[in-house]
Amino acid sequence: MTTFPVEWRPSPNYRRARRPNIRRPIKGVVLHYTATEDWDLALALLTGQAGGRKVSAHYLVGRDPGEIAQLVHLKDVAWHAKGANALSVGIEMVNVGGGKEVRGRTCQRYGRRWVPISMQGTPHKEQWGPYDLWEPFTRWQYDAVAQIMAAIRVREGSPIAAWRHSELDPERKLDPGPAFDMKLARDRFNYWRVIMEGRRPEDLDPLTSIEFYK
Ligand SMILES: [Zn+2]
Repeated sequence: MTTFPVEWRPSPNYRRARRPNIRRPIKGVVLHYTATEDWDLALALLTGQAGGRKVSAHYLVGRDPGEIAQLVHLKDVAWHAKGANALSVGIEMVNVGGGKEVRGRTCQRYGRRWVPISMQGTPHKEQWGPYDLWEPFTRWQYDAVAQIMAAIRVREGSPIAAWRHSELDPERKLDPGPAFDMKLARDRFNYWRVIMEGRRPEDLDPLTSIEFYK
């Protein structure tokens, strides 16, 4: 089983740290959507090429197979979740988020097709903002995110949490929203974890050509 190759696209938006260490272990990953249409714009925003606020994430996962980049080393702290950056790894998924049905027509912001998502079974929020339609995530996104999480789990040697950004910042954030199926993500995580635990951590080339352990 091969792991997915990861592109190294360094972002200047991070704080130097020396993780993992005993005082500041990585406790979990924070899952986000970019709220942008495409890979290029998301990458530009997260690497300081598009102006705006100084933000970043450790990983960016696009919609299509092969689209996965690391922007910040795991040993350093990325700027993706106010208040939780120091203890987490940030993963951004390219996805526009929510939309509305306007006068019976599906809003097609960015030309993306949105699907209605049931509001049942979404314990974190009673209201998902003004939106009733959400862009689905792709199978590739679930697998890529699960593989990153499994690699971190094996590397850290202790359980890691998977948080929705909206859980950590419920007043301001909706992402990754009700279209993100945490159960499916967990299933794929378990699959990749079994594969990765068959390897010695020092042989684990999680994702690539870049040095995962830095
Ligand atoms: Zn977010």
